[in-house]
Amino acid sequence: MAVSNGAALLSLKGVHRHYVTGGVVVRALDGIDLEVREGEVVMLQGPSGSGKTTLLNVISALDSPTSGAYYFDGELVPSAPVEKKRKRISIPTPHPALRLLTWPPEAILNFFLLRPIFMIPHYLRYTLPRSTKLEKMTDFRRDNVGYVFQFFNLLGDLTALENVMLAQEIHGGRDKERALRVLNMVGLAGMEDRFPSELSGGEQQRVAIARSLAKSPRLLLGDELTGNLDSETTAQVMKVLVKVCRKERITAIIVTHDVSLTKYATRVIQMDSGKLVGDEPGGRAALHATMDTAEAVAEAAVGVVEKAAKSVGGLIAGAVSNMLETESEDEEEA
Ligand code: ADP
Ligand code: MG
Repeated sequence: MAVSNGAALLSLKGVHRHYVTGGVVVRALDGIDLEVREGEVVMLQGPSGSGKTTLLNVISALDSPTSGAYYFDGELVPSAPVEKKRKRISIPTPHPALRLLTWPPEAILNFFLLRPIFMIPHYLRYTLPRSTKLEKMTDFRRDNVGYVFQFFNLLGDLTALENVMLAQEIHGGRDKERALRVLNMVGLAGMEDRFPSELSGGEQQRVAIARSLAKSPRLLLGDELTGNLDSETTAQVMKVLVKVCRKERITAIIVTHDVSLTKYATRVIQMDSGKLVGDEPGGRAALHATMDTAEAVAEAAVGVVEKAAKSVGGLIAGAVSNMLETESEDEEEA
């Protein structure tokens, strides 16, 4: 079903997500009713622990509601029953001499664990047995959602371009042209062959944004994605993000603590204790409102000036004609 301009792209109705830990129920989402229209740039704010990440996880189908319904583009989003009980595992403390063997440095771990995964041929990776419901959730995410994280999660051994193209590959098809285009869009033209270590924090985050845009998602989600950057870089990254979202008509929901970022949003939503407690137009709407007001003021000012000019003109004309009249009267008298 295609979404017409302004229709709700996503719609959450009475969504709850409860966690049970140690016999205590945590209501991470406590009855969320939310509609987000296509093209909106939403900033999601709220204190730590208010449920922002949980909400993004449900929206991206990384997680499922305990109850309630979530529709995307008018269709029910696939979900899997949330796990009831996590198995507790005991972690044995190894002898210090054995620690090297049981906890090898990350690089070695990555080499042995990650390489084989990427070495599995494409056709096999997609036929590995998985729960069908989880698979449907993954399909939904792959087809619709781009996710940007606070820690850019770039692979250090791959260049900017390769990072973007790896994401494309995982989502089912390389497209070098598109990869270069999105890198260009985020202002990284000419930097595609650099490794993450050769890029600044802001540039790395822009690669991560390019990576999430590489498959043209309909929805872009960001969780504290500039939390790691200084304020100037944050502003640059947000401007790029909002520009690209507008250009590509991508709907965005971005979690941030930073109140100054709301000027980039069309809408600002506040969360507290798993509930939505505020929903207001963001900076751009506010800016438009200000512009409208400014226009009205300018128009009014022009009106006043015109009237004043008319009346001044009238006065002058009156004075001049009076003068002329008196002059002609004087002449007549003479
Ligand atoms: P935020 O992103 O706003 O900081 P979260 O969505 O991460 O908040 O968490 C909301 C609440 O849910 C918190 O009280 C948190 O402790 C709890 N929570 C989050 N994930 C889990 C989990 N896997 N198990 C138990 N409680 C969790
Ligand atoms: Mg969070």
